[in-house]
Amino acid sequence: MAVERTLSILKPDATRRNLTGAINQRFEDSGLSIIAQRRLRLTLEQAQQFYAVHAERAFYGELCTYMTSGPIVAQVLEGENAVIRHREVMGATNPANADEGTIRKDFGESVEANSVHGSDSPENAAIEIAYFFSDTDIVG
Ligand code: ADP
Ligand code: MG
Repeated sequence: MAVERTLSILKPDATRRNLTGAINQRFEDSGLSIIAQRRLRLTLEQAQQFYAVHAERAFYGELCTYMTSGPIVAQVLEGENAVIRHREVMGATNPANADEGTIRKDFGESVEANSVHGSDSPENAAIEIAYFFSDTDIVG
């Protein structure tokens, strides 16, 4: 088992409903530690850059607008197999398909406003972490 880091984002629907503590409790209960954290509001350009991998998808424009609709909390989580563990606690992209007890099942509003983002591989985690944090921001 490898100790990994992953990028986690609490999305605007989560900050709007004051769910940041409830969601982070789930992550901490699963053995992940929050080792960096920043609350910010993305500009449209930042959201487009962050989600550039989805630029060809039909939902890209709406997704980027949604991600700028309120504050987000960007954070780095660390723990054993953090990338996969984080995604397991989040649940499937569409809350309607997510397993019982997952964050997206319990808190997600829609396939777009699904409360949380998580990196999908260690390689992308490193890129996404660097997008929000410098090394000195991260205290493991
Ligand atoms: P995940 O966040 O589970 O890794 P994706 O990387 O496929 O999922 O998509 C990124 C984000 O785009 C999702 O979390 C969700 O907010 C949004 N999204 C994905 N699919 C759709 C869709 N069909 N309609 C609207 N928004 C979507
Ligand atoms: Mg993804």
